[in-house]
Parts: sequence; structure tokens; C-alpha cells
Amino acid sequence: MFLPARETQNTRQKFEDRISAEGRFASYARGRLTYFLGRQVLTIIGAAILGVLVSPKLGFVALLVALAGEAVDCLTLRAFVRRGNYGPRARAASVGTAAIQAISISICVWLGWGATAGPEARFFAVVYMCGAVINAGLVYPFHRRATEARLVIYIIAIASLFALDGFAGRGSHGQLVFDFLATLMLGYMVYTFIRFVLRSHTKRIAMERDLIHRQDMLDQSFQTLEARTREAHHLAMVAANANDSVIVTDREGRIEYTNASFTRVSGYTAEEALGKLPAELLNSPNTDTEAIAAIFKARDIHEPVRMELINRTKDGNDIWVETNITPMVDDDGIVQGEVAIERDITQAKQREKELADAKTAAEEGARAKAQFLAMVSHEIRTPLNGIIGMSDVLLSGALQRDQRETVQTILSSGEALLTIINDILDLSKLEAGKMEIETIPFDLRAQLQGALALIHPLAEEKGLSLSLTFEDLPADQFMGDPGRVRQVFLNLVGNAIKFTKSGGVSARVSAVPGPQGDEIRIAVKDTGIGIPEDRLAHIFAAFAQADGATTRHFGGTGLGLAISRQLARQMGGDIDVASIPGEGSCFTLRFLTRAVDAAPKTSTCKATGGIAEIPPDIRILVADDNRTNRLLLGKLLDRVKPGLIFAVDGIEAVDKFRTEAPDLILMDMSMPRCDGIEATRLIREIEALGTAPPVPILALTANAFASDRDRCLEAGMDGFLTKPIRRRDLFAAIADFAPAHLQAPAASDTLKTVAL
Ligand code: ADP
Repeated sequence: MFLPARETQNTRQKFEDRISAEGRFASYARGRLTYFLGRQVLTIIGAAILGVLVSPKLGFVALLVALAGEAVDCLTLRAFVRRGNYGPRARAASVGTAAIQAISISICVWLGWGATAGPEARFFAVVYMCGAVINAGLVYPFHRRATEARLVIYIIAIASLFALDGFAGRGSHGQLVFDFLATLMLGYMVYTFIRFVLRSHTKRIAMERDLIHRQDMLDQSFQTLEARTREAHHLAMVAANANDSVIVTDREGRIEYTNASFTRVSGYTAEEALGKLPAELLNSPNTDTEAIAAIFKARDIHEPVRMELINRTKDGNDIWVETNITPMVDDDGIVQGEVAIERDITQAKQREKELADAKTAAEEGARAKAQFLAMVSHEIRTPLNGIIGMSDVLLSGALQRDQRETVQTILSSGEALLTIINDILDLSKLEAGKMEIETIPFDLRAQLQGALALIHPLAEEKGLSLSLTFEDLPADQFMGDPGRVRQVFLNLVGNAIKFTKSGGVSARVSAVPGPQGDEIRIAVKDTGIGIPEDRLAHIFAAFAQADGATTRHFGGTGLGLAISRQLARQMGGDIDVASIPGEGSCFTLRFLTRAVDAAPKTSTCKATGGIAEIPPDIRILVADDNRTNRLLLGKLLDRVKPGLIFAVDGIEAVDKFRTEAPDLILMDMSMPRCDGIEATRLIREIEALGTAPPVPILALTANAFASDRDRCLEAGMDGFLTKPIRRRDLFAAIADFAPAHLQAPAASDTLKTVAL
């Protein structure tokens, strides 16, 4: 039978109260009152005996004295009990009343002893005193000081009687000695008795304390047990009602418990599963053996394990489960079994696969789109090459005014088309994450000035001022992608000119040093139409324009800023815009770079100034499968016509290299049978055998990617010309790379890019 905790606490409290000084005094006081009558029986018998032995009068007096002592003591104690006053003062007072009571008994003994000289009175007195001492001794554990006061008085009383007898010479000497010794013996017995009383009391208290302590422990164990039972009950409820399968295995790894969810998911009832190994029940031929090995390994090292694996259900279907296996290790570190919680994730897996498939399909689509756009752009660039190139050729000849205007229109339409194609190609590359950003040293000032020179005529045409200022730049050379910086800058300045009717456009370049290098800021400010605030966030989206109607008037595709912003971000920066409608806009391009002292390794040069002179007797091999291109190059290089040799594919190019020994080769990259890269390799191999002197080879390609340029360089080409080819650039490149003996300046040994 377990006591509730509170009851045990009460018991302990009561016990502590009882053995405290107050508690013991209370017991003493109540005991004295309870046994009052019992004690008076002794008093009356004593008084009666005295009455018989001496005189009834003396007996009566003794009775009165004894009763008076008792009355003082008991009435005082009763007052304390009634008031519940057991404090130190009450205890001290009770010592006094105990002494009075002892003195009253001692007076009675004196009366009896003194009134008679016979041994019978002494015997009676000693016996009476013994009774009183025993009586006092019985309450010793409860009120020591009262008992001690009584004992001292009794001892003094007895001793004084013997002394009196001795002095008075009452009775024989032998008799006196005999009585004294007998009294001492009696006294010793009484002492032993009191000690016994005291010890038994102490033992009883210790036993009681021990009992209470045990009760306490029992109580705690019971409470722990009760809590555990409750917890076990809850756990059992959780396990039974969990949505996940719960499997508990024993030390041998055999199933000893499964919940309802396990049955629902696996199809096996608990009875079917009990005693089986989970593997023999649930593994499928498709279950990953490495996953199973990992589970066993985790078990060996007492580690929990979580993984996804395939289980087979009772009806033979494979399902994906996410399993969490935790070993149950006892205090001695021995695995007593395992708890596995399994969740059916088949649907999630299916969705995951669908998502992955969809992602692959989307990526495939994006790749296909990028490839398609690259192909379309390439294919469009080739005829455009013809249109722009031929227009260029026509314009270099003598034309009538209206003819010149017509050709000029064809040329600018071709160039506009080329810009659109370039933009679409850029966007598709950016979206497919295929945009390559170079990091090469370049002259920022020269780049921007060159770009501005190109666009200057547009501003002039509209009567706008155009300025470019540089604030303190840490250097001239910076690491980065000059082509892309130029492209974004041209887009911003181009837009600014396009959307400004009067006033002007100013560009300001500054550098802000930061932890990752310098941040270049190019702020392009105009006094144009501005952009409404609610459109500011949208103008960077592809094909977005601030106001369809207004901008339609200005033309454009809405791609420029989308491309520019993505390029800026790829260069570690961004484009910010601030604009006030009617007052103008300020677009700021930011990008991260690093100032360098060294001169650039490769240069992106733009033919500026007049048309370069090319050696008149130079022999140029043109390898291009496209007839229009061959025709165009024939016309562009009209002035060296006798020295022009044509090849329609790579194999013919190699043959003509062998037989004709040209001074320079213009090599198309994509040709049937053998492309330009392969043909260049073969030519370089032939040269390496020492059978022919090295010849400069310039790539001619519609693919304007850095990777193409790297491939050209790697194959052994010297330069790179992108289609559509402009007369000015073609001549500059030929003049640059023509062999020294043909008068042209020495060619650099590094790859040169002539970009449009
Ligand atoms: P596009 O100029 O070909 O339309 P962009 O992406 O370069 O495409 O610009 C998107 C739109 O942002 C423009 O159509 C125009 O509405 C607005 N915009 C860009 N630059 C300016 C500018 N400097 N002033 C006013 N509006 C501008």
C-alpha cells in the first residue's frame, strides 16, 4: 500500500514535530495529565501505609502535601496544554513545577522517615522514593530537565535522610549501612532502568525515522513508477496511432513490435511480422545494398541512422521509405534492440523525379533554345555578312547621291538587324547561364572613349552634347571584360541619346575602392524624357519598355537593359537608375574590377581613323564554303585581286597552302569536310616539318564567343575577325598581320581580336 506523497510528507512532519523540543514537552505534559489518577493511587496507598505505620493524621498530612505538589505541577501543565504553549518559557516553568512536585514527594518521605525510627519506615520510604524516581525516569526522554530536577531533589532527600540518621544515631550502625547499600543497589537498578528507557526511546525514534525514510523512498519509487507507466502508456499510444510505421526489434534484430501504420503501409500484420528480421520481410531486389550495409554498420557502432531506401510490400510492390533507426542501448552499453520509424515517401519521390525530369526537360529546352538561337543567329549573320559587306563595297565606290542613300539605308538596316540578333543571342546565353565573362587587362579609358567616338555621330545628328569625364582612377588598366563593359556602356549611352530630344548626355567614370577590389561606376546622365517611377523596376525585364507608345516612337526591342543588367551582375555589380519624368534619367553601371599596372596581354582593337594600307602584292588564301562570302571578300580585297586564292573547304585550304604558299590565310571556322580549326592544325603540322614557312592565319567566323577564340588560338591561329566583316577592320587586320617583308608593320605574336 503506497501512501500518496502528501501523506508521507505529513507523517514526516508529524514525526519531526513530535521529536522536537516542543513536541516532546507536549507529550510530557499530556502524559502527566493522562496518568494523573494512576499516580494518585500510589500517593493514596503511600499515605494510607503512613497512616497505619505512624498515625492517620500524618498519613492525611502526607496525602495533602503530595496532592498539593501534584496539583501545582498538573494545573500548570494543563494550562500550557490548553493554550498549546510548549515554548521555552513553558518548559522552564514546568521544570519549576516538577521540582515543587518532587519536593512535595520528598516531604512525604521525610515525614514517614522522621516520624518513626523503625526499619520498616525507612524501607517504606526508600520503596516510595524508588516509585517516584521510576515515575520521573519514565518521562526522561520527553522532558530531561524536569526529570533531572526531580532526580536531584530525590537524591538529596534520600541522602539527607541517611545523613540525618547517621548523625542522630538512629538505628544500629550495621542496619544503617545495610539500608544505605540496599538503597544504592536500588538506585543503580533504577539508573539502569532509566538508561534502558532512554535507549529504547532513542531506538524507537531511530526506527521511526528509518521507517519514514523508507516510506519516503518507497513513495518516490512509486511516483517514478507511476510516471514511467504513464509515459509508457503515452508512448504506446503514440506508437500505435502514429502515421509512420514503427518497428521495434530485439537484441537479435528480430521484430517484436509493429504498429497499425506498419500494417497499413507494408501489408503485413503484426503477427506475420513478429520474430522476423526486417530485411527478410521488407527488402526488395531493388533495395540499395549499400544502404543495408550502412544500417548494419550503424548498428555495430551504436549510432542512429537515417536514410531513404526501397522496401517491398506484402503484395510485391516497391515503395520508397525514409527510415530512422535508433539503437536502444542499456546502461552497460549493450544494444537491447532498435526502434525504426519509417515514412512512406513514394509519392514525394515520384514528385521529386517528376520535378527533376521537368528540370532536365526545361534545361534541355533552354539548351535547345540557346542552340537554336545560336544557329539562327549564325545563319542570319552569314547573309547579313553579304548585305552589310556588299553595301560597304558599294559605298566605297562611286555612287550617285540617291543610290548612296539607298545603299546607306540597306547598310544601316543590316546593322540594326545585326544588333537585334546579337541581343537575342546574348539574352539566350544569359538565360542558359552560358554567358562567358572574360577577365583580362584592358584600358578602361581607351575602351570608353572608343565607344563614345563610335556613337558620337548619333548625338551630333540630334544636336545633343556628349561628354565623358574621368574622376581620379587608380590606374589606366583594369582586369575585366572590355567587350562587355563597352557593350553595356554603349547601351546606356545609346538609350540616353535615343530618349533625349534636347540638352545632352554626360558620362562620368569613378572608382570606389572596396574589400574585393575597385568598384568602377559609370554614371550616364541625360536630359531626356525620363521614366515614370512605377516603371523603373520593370524596364530591366526582357522585352519591357517604360511606355509602349512613347518608346515605339523611339524604336528598340526592350532587350538592352535586361542584358546589360545581367552582364553587370555577372561582373559583380549592377545597374541602378534614378529618373524624373520630363527632366531626365541617370543610369549607373557598377562592376568589380582590379587595377593592374601591366600592359594587357591581348588587345581588343577597333580600327579607327582611315582605311589601313595593305601590301599590294600580298597573296591571301580565303577559305570559306559560302559563295557570298567568297564573293564579298573578293570585292573587299579587290585591290589585291591577283594575289587572291580561294578554297571552298578545309581540305582544299590545306592543299592550296601547300601548292600556292600564300602570305596570309583568312580561314572560315565552319566548313564542310574539314573545318577551319582542323585545317589550321594540319597547316601548322606541315609547317612544323619544315617544309613551309609559318603563315599568319586569321579566323573568319560568325561565332563571336570567347570559347571560339580560345579554340582558334589553341589550333594555332593568329587573329580573329567576326562576321559581318567590315572593310575597315579587314584591312586593319591584314595590315597588322601581313609578313614583315611585304612592308606592313611587324605583327604581334599574341592573338589579336578585331571586333566590330
Ligand atoms: P530598348 O531601348 O531597346 O527599348 P532597353 O532595355 O534598352 O530597350 O530599355 C528599356 C526601356 O527603358 C526603354 O524602352 C525605355 O522605355 C526605358 N529607357 C531606357 N533608357 C532610358 C533613358 N535614358 N531615358 C528614358 N527611358 C529609358
